[in-house]
Amino acid sequence: MSGEFCCFYCGQVQPKSECSSEHIIPACLGATLEKTGTRHVCKSCNTRAGKDIDLPFCRDWVIESQRFFQGIVSRGKRPSTRIGRIDWDRPEHVDVYFLEHKVIAYRFRAKTNESCVIFGSIGQGATPEAIGVVHKSLKDKFANHRVINPGEEKTDQERELASAIDAMGRNLKLIMTADLTAWDRAVVKMGLGLACLYFGEEYTRSQQADRLRAFLWENDPDKRDEMPLHGSAGLLSQRDHKQSQFFHGDKSTHAFYLAEVGNKIGFFAGFFGEYENFLEIDSVGTFCGRLPGALMRGAVWIIDPKKKETIGPISLEEAIHRRSEERRIAAEREFAQKNQSSNDFKEDA
Ligand SMILES: [Zn+2]
Repeated sequence: MSGEFCCFYCGQVQPKSECSSEHIIPACLGATLEKTGTRHVCKSCNTRAGKDIDLPFCRDWVIESQRFFQGIVSRGKRPSTRIGRIDWDRPEHVDVYFLEHKVIAYRFRAKTNESCVIFGSIGQGATPEAIGVVHKSLKDKFANHRVINPGEEKTDQERELASAIDAMGRNLKLIMTADLTAWDRAVVKMGLGLACLYFGEEYTRSQQADRLRAFLWENDPDKRDEMPLHGSAGLLSQRDHKQSQFFHGDKSTHAFYLAEVGNKIGFFAGFFGEYENFLEIDSVGTFCGRLPGALMRGAVWIIDPKKKETIGPISLEEAIHRRSEERRIAAEREFAQKNQSSNDFKEDA
C-alpha cells in the first residue's frame, strides 16, 4: 500500500501524511539524516523519541564533555560547559566547568564562607593570554565570587581545595550525571531504527522489533530491568568488556553496526572509540543471511562528528580494511615525522 508506512518505533501502519524526518542516530553525535535517518517514523513517535530518549542522552555528561573537548557543534549549539560536581565528603560543593581555551574551572560554594572560583589550564593547553581572557570572563560571570588565579595567594581553605582538586581522579569523585537509563533507551532506539532501516519492513513487523519497542516505551525503569533484553555496556579499555574485538571506531568517530554473532544479530554502538554498547537485535538469526560479507557478516556505519561525515552502510570486512589502512597511513606519517625531527637534530648537532 503506497499511501501507508509502518512506523519503526510504534510498529503501527500510518498514513503517509504522518511521516516525519527522524535522526535514528541523534544529531548531537554529528549524524546526518542522509545516511542514518528515515522518514518511516510517525510524527508522534518522533516527538516522543526526541524528548524522552535523544535529549536525556545528548545531555549526558559523557557525551557533553566529549563534544566539548572535540569542539562538536550540533544544530548550531555547543555542548554545555558545566560537567559535574565534585563530591568530597564536605557540606560545600564544587561545580566543574570546562571553558574555552582548554581551561577548567572549579566553582566552590561554601555554606558559610565566601564562594570562589579556581581555574587553570587543562594540561599545558592554555596560553597565559588565554588564562587572562578567561580570568576576566569568570569575574564577569561570577560577580559574587572570588576568582582565583592559579598564581595568586590563597587562603588555607582555598589551598586545601586546590590540593583536593589536584588529587581529583585519585581521591575525589565527580558526581557525574551519567544516566544509564538514557543510555539504555538511546541504544535500543538506535539499534531498532538501524535494523528497521537496513532489513526493511519485514524486520519492522517482526516479534524481535516488538520486543525492543516494548522496552523503548516502558517508562518504569524497574519494569524495563525485568524485560528479557540481552546486552551489555562498558569501556573498550576494560579488559572484561570487549564485545567488538574485531572493529571499533577511533577517538574521533562513532561506529555502529549490525553483525552476525553466533547465528544471532547484534547491534554494536561505539561512541568516541571508547564507550561501547551491545544489544541483541535478532535472537533467531532470520536476517543473518542479509548482512554483507563472506567471513564476517555485518553492516557498518561510521560517523565522524567533526567533519559531519557518515560512511555506510558498508560491510564489516570493508570497515576493518579501511581502519587498518588508516592506521597504516597514520603510522607511516608518524615514522616520517620522527625521522624528520631526528634529522633536524643531527643537523643542529
Ligand atoms: Zn510511530
